[in-house]
Parts: sequence; C-alpha cells; structure tokens
Amino acid sequence: MSNRTISMTDGLYQYLLQVSLREPPILQRLRAETAKHPKHSMQISPEQGQFMRLLVRMLGASRCLEVGVFTGYSSLSVALALPDDGHIIACDVSEEFTAVARRYWHEAGVERRITLHLAPALETLDTLLKRGEQGRYDFAFIDADKGNYLNYYERIIRLLRPGGVIAVDNVLWDGAVIDKKDKSKDTVAIREFNAALHKDQRIELSMVPIGDGLTLARKRS
Ligand code: CA
Repeated sequence: MSNRTISMTDGLYQYLLQVSLREPPILQRLRAETAKHPKHSMQISPEQGQFMRLLVRMLGASRCLEVGVFTGYSSLSVALALPDDGHIIACDVSEEFTAVARRYWHEAGVERRITLHLAPALETLDTLLKRGEQGRYDFAFIDADKGNYLNYYERIIRLLRPGGVIAVDNVLWDGAVIDKKDKSKDTVAIREFNAALHKDQRIELSMVPIGDGLTLARKRS
C-alpha cells in the first residue's frame, strides 16, 4: 500500500491492459501499421487513447482541437468518442504521416468529423482566433514540437470555453525532465512548460502519469 503513484512494472502494465483495455479493431490496426514506422514511438499508448475517449465523453465535448496528428491514433480515438455533429480541427505539417491518418479516418467513417490543416499549427490557431472563435472549443490535445508547447497552450486557452480541457502529451519526457545533465532544447522546453502551468491560475491542473505523462488543464469557469 502506498500514498504515492504506483511504479508500473512490465507485469503490472500487462495486467492493466488485460483487465481494462478496450481498443476498437480499427485502432488496433492503425497501431499495428504505425509500429512499423521508424518514428512509431510518437504514437500515444492504447490506454492513453482510451483515457482520452473517456475524457471526451465525460466533458460532453463536441468541438475539439489537435496539434500534432502523426498517423492519427489520437485524432481517431477522439473522433470515435464524439457525437455525430462533433468536430476536430487537426493541425500537422507532414503530408506523409497524415496520409496514413486520413486513410484510417475514412475507413472508420469519421472523416467528416475531422478537418486537417496542413500548415504550422500556430498559423492555424491564429486564424481561428482572428475568425473570432475564442471560447468555442471544449477539448484540445497538444502533442507536437516541444519548443512551441507554451505558444500552442497560450492560443488554445483563449480558444477553449470556460470548463474546457487541454491535454498535453509527453510532460514527463521519458524521465529526462529530472536529469539535470540533460539541457537539450526539448527537455528544457518541457520543464519550462510544466513550471509555467504549475503557476497558471487560469487553470485547474493535474499531471497524470499515463503514457509519457499527460497534463490535464481545465480552463476555470
Ligand atoms: Ca507524444
């Protein structure tokens, strides 16, 4: 028994999957295809996808944002949890990775729920702000270049409605956040991001040790 978060051994992780994972076949296939990709570690874990589906349902989210699509596992997860009229604005710069995503969105019959913007996400988010979309989104997922995390966050917090939630991936960065010798740009950016959110009184905050660490920030009402 312990009053701290349990250490996840391989055996315990397998047990967690065995007794809780409900991964739809289409997500299983996308995961299997992405596993062959040299950058496959950029894909979120299946239990994290399931957690995000539950979160979207709990929020009653219908308008969503995603920064960093890769091969589409997270966007497909969220899209499957949305109501029929739900929608995701998905931002990425890679035609190659998102071609895989598009194929699976189509196959799952959710492509009409997802609009892909192949452009730097800051540009897309700025366009939404210019269009007057402040306060109109329920849920956002940030999983892209770490150096821009704070820039994405600052825009998205304006786009969210009060009570809306931002989920941010890789906040524990494979443990590198506590390695004092690690002064690489991405690691420093994630440390700064985590420190900034800890102080940010505009949000309610929880850092959830699922996957590579997932921060949830709820915009205060
Ligand atoms: Ca990630």
